[in-house]
Amino acid sequence: MRGGRIGPRTTAEHTTDHRFSQAIGGIEYDPTHGPQIGKRAVGSMLLIERALVRRLEQRAEAAWPREICGLLVGQKGEERRLVCEAVPLANCADSSDAFSATPLDVLEVEQRARRGGLVVVGVFHSHPGGSASPSSADLKSAIDGYGRHHSWLILPIRLGRATDPSAWTLDRTGRRFAPEHLIDTD
Ligand SMILES: [Zn+2]
Repeated sequence: MRGGRIGPRTTAEHTTDHRFSQAIGGIEYDPTHGPQIGKRAVGSMLLIERALVRRLEQRAEAAWPREICGLLVGQKGEERRLVCEAVPLANCADSSDAFSATPLDVLEVEQRARRGGLVVVGVFHSHPGGSASPSSADLKSAIDGYGRHHSWLILPIRLGRATDPSAWTLDRTGRRFAPEHLIDTD
């Protein structure tokens, strides 16, 4: 994310589910080694409660055509990120199809997460134009700035209605986005 003015803080969306070691959608989740199917670990994934994604989509629909953004807080494995909470941030970008949060807001979320034994695992933002893929600006932000090691959750909004969300992370080259599995922890 890029810097900008200091915007108002918004309240956090909380999930009620903080279970870390249990079967999730048929996948056994091990907090140390992550989800596994049989003995084979599956690829990069973002584990998030569907109801939490829906609440973010509703927020994005209400803000449309403005773009919303925020951070995902939870637990992180090598290729697995488990989301416990989504924290919306004020979008300070000038245009309606871009996002930018202040370093102060980001720092505050990071510090609060750490106090709770958690870390920032991802960035979320909406695409008011409806695109499901990361933009070139998203890629630049991921490569050059904040979010290099994070999941990128994209909420496409077409004509005010949320469509299929997607998650992305930089691949091993660190120069391209690769899709992540979105796993519902409901
Ligand atoms: Zn984007």
